[in-house]
Amino acid sequence: MRIILLGPPGSGKGTQAQLLVQRYGIVQLSTGEMLRAAVAAGTPVGLKAKEIMASGGLVPDDVVVGIISDRIDQPDARNGFILDGFPRTVPQAEALDELLKHKHLKLDAVIELRVNESALLSRVETRVAQMRERGEEVRLDDTPEVLTKRLASYRSQTEPLIHYYSERRKLSTIDGMMAIDEVTRAIHRQLLALGAVEPKSHGKPHARSAAKAAPAKKAKAGKKSAKKPSKATKKPAKSAKTAKKAAKKTVKKAAKKTVKKAAKNGAKKAAKKVTKKRAKR
Ligand code: AMP
Repeated sequence: MRIILLGPPGSGKGTQAQLLVQRYGIVQLSTGEMLRAAVAAGTPVGLKAKEIMASGGLVPDDVVVGIISDRIDQPDARNGFILDGFPRTVPQAEALDELLKHKHLKLDAVIELRVNESALLSRVETRVAQMRERGEEVRLDDTPEVLTKRLASYRSQTEPLIHYYSERRKLSTIDGMMAIDEVTRAIHRQLLALGAVEPKSHGKPHARSAAKAAPAKKAKAGKKSAKKPSKATKKPAKSAKTAKKAAKKTVKKAAKKTVKKAAKNGAKKAAKKVTKKRAKR
């Protein structure tokens, strides 16, 4: 499964992406995370991106398209991926279409998380507070001033993607103001409706992420047996008792019927005898 999560900063893309990773055993490809790692490692890409990111601007399209193209080729992305924070511009979306076509891959869905802008600042403030609590380094661009700029760039450069994907019948919009698990459920329902996931994946962590070391074949076999219980295990112990009772009732009924029939037959025979006797006379 290959999906895109679309939404402004603070809309919950990262949170939902992580939950979807657990559920479906696919990888999250976040350009923001990759760029932050590049900045931390001081790579040429990182050096290029550092200032732009700190000021809330967008890193050049060719840089992020290159990063994503390489990442999609990694073995762990073979099973599927969630794009979080990419594409962010129409040229990036066009480049993604091209590279997926080139790699013979299909995009299943684009999920837009729609949120009230007024809630975004407080959401980002909560994220900062939580990161501080966990002792994590706080993002340089998670300040009210930079957030305002990131929002402006979302509106002008990323929002046109809603039209882009809705024209291509790929877009599903979900209310991102709901509770986290409600949003996850809504995304799952949408993916089910689109046929991007199988019903059995509902509410359960993906077999591979639940048992990371399990070979693919075994995981498949396990899934199969989970889907179709054997006839012997289909009914719980309680219904065995009920079945016994029902069988007893049937036997009783059958016996009653036989007695009635016999009685009827007896009566018929007696009637015949009387008629014969009368005829003789
Ligand atoms: P994010 O973690 O998605 O909020 O991204 C953090 C920052 O990384 C953004 O504000 C941009 O500066 C940069 N960035 C991430 N993804 C992209 C992208 N697809 N195109 C351009 N810049 C990006």
